[in-house]
Amino acid sequence: MRNVVILGSGCAGNTAAIYTARANLKPLVISGHEPGGQLSITTLVENFPGFPEGVDGPVLVERMKHQAQHFGAEYMTGSVIEADLKSYPFRLSVEGEWIETRTLIVATGASARWLGLDSEYKLIGKGVSSCATCDGFFFRDREIMVVGGGDSAMEEANFLTRFGRRVTLVHRRDSFRASKIMIDRVRANPKIETVMNSVIDEVYDVSKGTVTGVKLRNLITGDTRVQDVDGLFIAIGHIPNTKPFVGQLDLDEDGYIRSHGGARTNIRGVFHAGDVQDRVYRQAITASGAGCMAAIEAERFLEAEGH
Ligand code: NAP
Repeated sequence: MRNVVILGSGCAGNTAAIYTARANLKPLVISGHEPGGQLSITTLVENFPGFPEGVDGPVLVERMKHQAQHFGAEYMTGSVIEADLKSYPFRLSVEGEWIETRTLIVATGASARWLGLDSEYKLIGKGVSSCATCDGFFFRDREIMVVGGGDSAMEEANFLTRFGRRVTLVHRRDSFRASKIMIDRVRANPKIETVMNSVIDEVYDVSKGTVTGVKLRNLITGDTRVQDVDGLFIAIGHIPNTKPFVGQLDLDEDGYIRSHGGARTNIRGVFHAGDVQDRVYRQAITASGAGCMAAIEAERFLEAEGH
């Protein structure tokens, strides 16, 4: 029987692990299918306080893990296949093994949706990004492209004009799904060019290990052309990792956990942390803050229950 099980090993999960380990609760962290979370697929992080020269994302998240292990947190590789949160203690099926726990911190994150191209995957962190706030700064006076037609794409395109020489916004249909006010801002921004009815077929140049351009295809005419690009931002949505909790945790229409105050979910003893609940800020530092909140809630819950 565990006191605390933490699902996810990104900033939220690792921070929750540091706090609960220091509270002597010997947390078990189940690392999930993307160990290290979003930071593990980025390069330099310049906005995490305490690192004036910046720090590599994978290094930062690994250091958090070591910090948690130093205080007694245990890590296990695997993902939760099934969860039973209706009985107490809670039960989790991880790679064929059932684990019981008195509290659960869900820090499973939201995975960025990608286009699905091989060349795109190979260049993630090398010019391909899913986070303008994180990586826009690296593309000062460069050519930037954003893909997507929702509010995120509009927001990212506008934000990136602070840095880029030009921002090209590519969308697969002839109309955006974003809200009117966001579209109006894009249309009014002289640095943004829109390319409609188009998709990216290839990202160049894997052999150089950096983004140099993309092959665009017009879905109406079938025409293809190559456009030079230095930074490619994919803003086609996120998928919260909440599948095992459907029908148990209170989720919104897109599958994000609904907060029931602070880090609390609708189930006593189950807490949320990070991007699995947060569709707005999605930053390393906010996820860490949320991990801290969830850990404190878990400690208090266990204390109140007499453990
Ligand atoms: P979204 O609204 O689901 O939009 C995703 C966009 O990506 C759609 O335009 C979609 O095209 C496109 N897309 C999906 N898969 C694609 C693919 N494989 N290839 C090319 N394009 C693809 O996602 P979001 O923009 O991240 O927004 C999520 C939620 O957060 C929304 O409710 C949004 O309103 C909200 N949000 C609000 C703000 C704000 O108000 N400030 C900012 C950001 C997000 P189709 O249109 O053709 O389906």
